[in-house]
Amino acid sequence: MSSKKNFYSSIYKEPGPKLDRVSPFESMMERFRFAAETLNLDEGLFKYLASPEKQITVSIPVIMDNGNIEVFEGYRVIHDNVLGPSKGGVRYSPDVNIEEVKALAAWMTWKCAVVNVPFGGAKGGIRCNPAELSQGELERLTRRYTANLLGIFGPDRDIPAPDMNTNEQVMAWIMDTYSMNSQKTEMAVVTGKPVILGGSQGRKEATGRGVVTVTLAALSKLGIMPNKVSIAVQGFGNVGTVSAQLMYEQGAKIIAISDITGGYYNKNGINIPEAIQYMRNNNNVLEGYPDAEKITNKELLELECDVLIPAAKEDQIDHTNADKIKAKIISEGANGPVTASADAILEEKGVMVIPDILANAGGVTVSYFEWVQDRQGYFWTEERVNRRLNRMMRNAFDNVFGVSENYKITLRQAAYVYSINRVATTLKMRGIYA
Ligand code: GLU
Repeated sequence: MSSKKNFYSSIYKEPGPKLDRVSPFESMMERFRFAAETLNLDEGLFKYLASPEKQITVSIPVIMDNGNIEVFEGYRVIHDNVLGPSKGGVRYSPDVNIEEVKALAAWMTWKCAVVNVPFGGAKGGIRCNPAELSQGELERLTRRYTANLLGIFGPDRDIPAPDMNTNEQVMAWIMDTYSMNSQKTEMAVVTGKPVILGGSQGRKEATGRGVVTVTLAALSKLGIMPNKVSIAVQGFGNVGTVSAQLMYEQGAKIIAISDITGGYYNKNGINIPEAIQYMRNNNNVLEGYPDAEKITNKELLELECDVLIPAAKEDQIDHTNADKIKAKIISEGANGPVTASADAILEEKGVMVIPDILANAGGVTVSYFEWVQDRQGYFWTEERVNRRLNRMMRNAFDNVFGVSENYKITLRQAAYVYSINRVATTLKMRGIYA
C-alpha cells in the first residue's frame, strides 16, 4: 500500500470492531478514499473534505397538545461551502442521528458538484416520529428548530429543503419563521416550498423526473428500449411514485412496487396511475392493493427484472443480498440504498449502478432553479423547469459516463471522482483563509 493510501485510510475509521453494518458516513468515506486515490488528491485537501465544517445539535422544546413540554433533538451538519452556500434537506424520523446526517451532508456536497449547481452540502434532521405528532405540534417543532438555527440558515449561507417525512408545509413554516425574524419575506431561505409562496413549478416531481432521465440514458447506452423493460420500484413516496409513473408512461412494465406495508408484485405489470389513486384513497398506504401478489420489501429487491429503483431509504442492498440482485441497472432514487460493502459484488456481477449522487440529483437541481427564481422574483413555466432539469441531468450523466470510460471504473466511482475533483479544484483556487 502506498503511503498516501495509508494516510487516506487513517482519516476517519469507524470506532470499535468492524460490524456487519457500517455507518453511512463510513460508506461515504470508503468511496471518497477511492476517488482520492484515483485523483492522487493532496493529503491536506483530503483532510479538509473529510471533516464536516460544522456539526450542530440543538434541543427543541415543544409544548405538546396536552400541555406538557417535550424536548426533541435536532441536527444540522454543514459539510462545506466550497462551491457556494450549503444546501440540503431536513428529515424527520425516529432514528435520525448525527452520524447519518454527517454522511447525508457530505453526499449533498458531491451531489451538487455532480450536477454543477453552485452549492455546498448540508443536511438536517429532527429525531421524532411525525406520525405521532399533531399538525400543531409539527408546526411548533419546525418553528423552534428554525429559530434555534437562525444564525446558520440564510439565502446566502445555508438553505434547507424537504427530505424524508418533511414536505411543502414544513418548508412554508421554515420560510415564515425565518422571515418573521428578519422582518422581511425571505423566500430564498428554503426550497421545496408551495408554488403559491415562491416554490418552483416541477420541484415536487423533480427527483423522480431526474431518476427517469438518467435511467433512460443508461438504457440507451445498453441499447435497450424503455418499452421493453421490466422495473421494480422500492418505496412509493414522492420519488418512487413519480419514477414509476414516468417509466410507465414510457411503456415500461412496472412489475413491483412497495411501501412500509410491504411489496406488491404482478408479473404482467401494475397499472401505476391506478395504484397511486388506490394509495391516495387508502390513507396513503398500499395495504390491501388488490391487483398484485404480496411480497416483502426484501423479496422485491431480488426479483427478476431489468431495472431496480430503490427509492426508500439507506442500506437496503448490502453484502448479504447483493449477489441475489438480478436487475441489469440499479437507479438509486434514495440516498445510500446500496452500502459500500455491496459495490464490489454488484460490479463483479456486471450490474450498472447509477449512484444516488447522480440519480437523485434532480431534486437539488430544481431547488437551485427555485432559489434563482426567488432571488430574481421571476418565475418560470413548468415546461422550462423540466427542459432545463432534463438537460442538466443528461449532461451530468454524460460527464460521469465519460469519466467511467476514461478511468475504466464504475459509474459510482466516476461520480465521486468527477465531483471530488470539482470541489478540490475550487478549494485549491480559493485557498485556505488564515
Ligand atoms: N433532500 C433532497 C436530497 O437529498 C433535496 C435537497 C435540496 O433540494 O436541497 O437531495
